[in-house]
Amino acid sequence: MKKKICKRCKSIVDGNKCNDPACQGLQSGQAAQSYKGRIFIVDANKSQIAKKIGLPYAGEYAIKVS
Ligand SMILES: [Zn+2]
Repeated sequence: MKKKICKRCKSIVDGNKCNDPACQGLQSGQAAQSYKGRIFIVDANKSQIAKKIGLPYAGEYAIKVS
């Protein structure tokens, strides 16, 4: 299955559910066409990068979406 990228929260997911359950950007059709860079958050509470860029949920994210 092709991965989808949410324009709002920048989640990269299989399917239509964002890493952030409150976002729902993908459900409302806000998928990005392309992205630059990826980051994988394993444990948002232990990740300094996650805190720095404000990613509260584990999962894969795009750095930049377009
Ligand atoms: Zn989203």
